[in-house]
Amino acid sequence: MNPTPLLAHLRFPLDQARGRRYPELAHPYRNPFQRDRDRVVHARAFRRLENKTQVFTAGLSDHFRNRLTHTIEVSQIARTVAGVLGLDEDLTEALALAHDIGHPPFGHAGEEVLDRLMRRFGDRFDHNLHALRIVETFENRYPRFPGLNLTFEVREGIVKHSRDFGPGEIPELEEYLPGLRPPLEAQLIDLCDEIAYDTADLDDGYHAGLVTMEGAAAASDKFRELDHAASMQFPGAPERTRMHEVVRGLIDWFVSGLVEGTVGAAAGLSGVAAVREHPARLVQFTPATAAGAAQLKHFLRDQVYESSALTAGRRRSAMQMENLFELLLEHPERLPASYLEESAAQPLHRQVCDYIAGMTDGFFERTCGQWGIL
Ligand code: MG
Repeated sequence: MNPTPLLAHLRFPLDQARGRRYPELAHPYRNPFQRDRDRVVHARAFRRLENKTQVFTAGLSDHFRNRLTHTIEVSQIARTVAGVLGLDEDLTEALALAHDIGHPPFGHAGEEVLDRLMRRFGDRFDHNLHALRIVETFENRYPRFPGLNLTFEVREGIVKHSRDFGPGEIPELEEYLPGLRPPLEAQLIDLCDEIAYDTADLDDGYHAGLVTMEGAAAASDKFRELDHAASMQFPGAPERTRMHEVVRGLIDWFVSGLVEGTVGAAAGLSGVAAVREHPARLVQFTPATAAGAAQLKHFLRDQVYESSALTAGRRRSAMQMENLFELLLEHPERLPASYLEESAAQPLHRQVCDYIAGMTDGFFERTCGQWGIL
C-alpha cells in the first residue's frame, strides 16, 4: 500500500541530533523527537491556542478554526507529506504542533501591533522568536531546567519556521546555524501551514457567508475544475457538501504539488548536509500549484481577510492592544509580581510585550474589560 519513500536518503538522521541544552537520560521507549512532541502538547502555551484567533474570532460560531484546530490540521498534513517523502514524522509532528505557539492574541493583527510598538524602542516582535522564548524560558514545568529543554533541531525549526537568516543578522540566534537551511522536516512546515490555512479559510469563509462557490470558481482555476467534477459526479449533492468535496480536492492537490515540487528540487542531493548547504529551500510547490495557491490567496485576501466583516473587529482589537501596552508601560505594577520578578532581566517594553503576547483572546478581553480599555 505504501509507496517507496521518495526522499528517505534526506531524512534527518536521529543519531546526528545535537541534543538538548541540558543533557537528559534516554527514555526507554520514546525517542527525543517523540518526547519533544509530547512536551509541546503538555505545555500551557499549546493549550492556550484553543482560545486564540486563527482568522475568525470565537463567538461568531463554534465551527470556525481556532489556532489549536488549525495546528492539528497542519500537523496531519505535515505528517502525511513527511511519510510519503520518507522523512522523520516525529520531528515533523513536533515542529507542526509548535509552529503557532508564539502567536499573540488576534492573529496577525496582534503581531503587527506588537511589532510596531516595539520598534519605538529599537526592538521587534516576531512570533517565531517569541515561540523560542516560550519553550526556552516561559514554560516552567521541570525541576532540572528552565523551559522545555527541546532538542536543537526542534528549536532550530521553530526559529526558521518561515525564513532563514545569515550570519550576524539576528545576534540572539547565532547558535542556530545561520546561513544554513534547516532539515526538510522543518522546511515543510511553512508550506503545510499554508495549505492548511488557505483551504480552511476558504471553508470558514464560505460558512461565514463571505465566500460563494461562484466567486471562488471565478477566481481559482483549480476550484472551478474541482467544482465542475463534483457537480458532474454528485449532481444531487447539496452545495455545502460539494464545497467540502472541493476543499478536500484542493488539499489533496496542494499536497501532491508539494511532494512533486520537493522531489524535483531535491533531485541529485545526497544527504542532509547537502540539504543544509543548498542555497535555497528545497520544499516547494510545483509551478502550477504555486500559481494555484497565489490565485486562492488573492481571492481570500479580497473576500475574507480584507472584508469589512473582519477588518472592523481587527481595528478595535489593534487599538485595544496599543492602549493596553501603553497602560502597562506607565503602570508596570499591574503586571503580576511573579512575572515581573521572573523577567526582571528584560527591559520593561519587552516585559510588557511578552506579557500581552502570551494572552489568549479571552484573557485579553477580560483584562481590557476590567481596566476599562475600550
Ligand atoms: Mg499556522
